[in-house]
Amino acid sequence: MHSGMIGKVEKAHRYAQERDRFKLRSIEVTVRGDNDSHTVRLEDGRWACGCDFFGHNRTCAHTMALEIMLEGIVPKSVATSAA
Ligand SMILES: [Zn+2]
Repeated sequence: MHSGMIGKVEKAHRYAQERDRFKLRSIEVTVRGDNDSHTVRLEDGRWACGCDFFGHNRTCAHTMALEIMLEGIVPKSVATSAA
């Protein structure tokens, strides 16, 4: 590895610790739930999930799990920000 690359790798590790540098703008994830798989999307700062619970509550276990995994780089839904 050349010396320029070593500096980049060191910077990457530092950036990865500084989550406030990052804002995830859109993602699409398939979540394998206990009963079924669901597609979760983040678009324009808003979550969406295809499951029935999300349709009624605008949040669900699938979006909340992703919020926990990606804390600091994705917006919080109403439910988790109230907790
Ligand atoms: Zn869901």
